[in-house]
Amino acid sequence: MRKILLPEGEIPRRWLNITPLLPEPLEPPLDPETGKPVSPEKLGAIFPEPLIEQEVSQEEWIDIPEEVLEVLSLWRPTPLHRAKNLEEYLETPAKIFYKNESLSPPGSHKPNTAVAQAYYNKISGIRRLTTETGAGQWGSALSFATQFFDLECRVFMVRVSYNQKPYRRILIETWGGEVIPSPSPYTEAGRRFYEKDPDHPGSLGIAISEAIEEAAGRKDTNYSLGSVLNHVMLHQTVIGLEAKKQMEEAGFYPDVVIGAVGGGSNFAGLAFPFLADRLRGDREHLEVVAVEPTACPTLTKGEYRYDFGDSVGLTPLIKMYTLGHDFVPPPIHAGGLRYHGDAPLVCKLYNLGFISAVAYDQSEVFEAALTFARTEGIVPAPESAHAVRKAIDEALKCRETGEEKVILFNLSGHGYFDLSAYDKFLRGELKGT
Ligand SMILES: *Cc1c(COP(=O)(O)O)cnc(C)c1O
Repeated sequence: MRKILLPEGEIPRRWLNITPLLPEPLEPPLDPETGKPVSPEKLGAIFPEPLIEQEVSQEEWIDIPEEVLEVLSLWRPTPLHRAKNLEEYLETPAKIFYKNESLSPPGSHKPNTAVAQAYYNKISGIRRLTTETGAGQWGSALSFATQFFDLECRVFMVRVSYNQKPYRRILIETWGGEVIPSPSPYTEAGRRFYEKDPDHPGSLGIAISEAIEEAAGRKDTNYSLGSVLNHVMLHQTVIGLEAKKQMEEAGFYPDVVIGAVGGGSNFAGLAFPFLADRLRGDREHLEVVAVEPTACPTLTKGEYRYDFGDSVGLTPLIKMYTLGHDFVPPPIHAGGLRYHGDAPLVCKLYNLGFISAVAYDQSEVFEAALTFARTEGIVPAPESAHAVRKAIDEALKCRETGEEKVILFNLSGHGYFDLSAYDKFLRGELKGT
């Protein structure tokens, strides 16, 4: 057996909300002016009510609207693969499985939440969405999603990616979105950086500030975030819910679940439905591993405290592992992993010891990516390749110990828009960590 496909009718019809299963409550976002929890009215300036409700929901299961399911079914359910060639190549007794989120039209897991967010904004009377994008995946996912619901989409794209990844920009524009390199001269937040250095490489944090500023200033416009928030983690659980069914069909339960972490959404999407078993008192030995770049080591080196979600200080304070909101990571090729913080839900579970974390250098990650491409065939996104690296390392450990561990990782996206990074690696020109 090489892969397990589910019929279209088996798309999950409910999202799993892990919040009510936490052993202790999540610390609420705080208003930096008052030091008190943020009022729903303030959030209402940039988010629609149904998403604010999901953000604080204590319901374990939340129905997925029919209109959202219809769009998701363009590519879902996604396959679960058994990486047999990779196992043979590594000569490991481990069994390696991966969930293939690279098959969505934008090429990553991100449309799972983009579609839901576009829908809820549409039914709340919103006409335009603004957002930021790092590597371009989120911008393309939102641009893809908004067209199904007749919304306009303006994307502030981190400048280093705008320059390095023209094809993502073109993809956003192909789906009807508008792309602006950030920091830009169009917002107050952008001008602070732009006026000092028009070639400033930018960061996700700065781009977030720009998108929020614009959304807060216009009634017809809301802001949309591709990761970090509770409702984004929620929407991504379709990944793990499908994977659970598929693993069951394969006759296995994972010993180790692995995902790359930028803001935490693809990782949470795969891991939370399995972690829910552990939180309910089952599967005590389940290992869940978050993988990050050493260039942006949020979980492995960050501090667990309240910090701003953006660089300028426009967002509420959120309790998370953070490298500091003014941290500007070096321009590595896994642009989607260059965020100074992580999702509060992921951070909480990490802090409580339900999740472990590991960081890798770019060169080790690309080595793993090449191994994967040359055995399994798919060229992974540099972000996803972090998970591939850890899966390979686990499998190699099993070769030493003889353990037949079942390893499951998330292939969060493909790397066909990242070929210039592959080119650099192949030519031995990949610089830095
Ligand atoms: C955006 C992205 C990530 C990182 O974001 P998360 O919210 O941590 O999932 C990882 N992989 C791919 C392919 C991405 O596009």
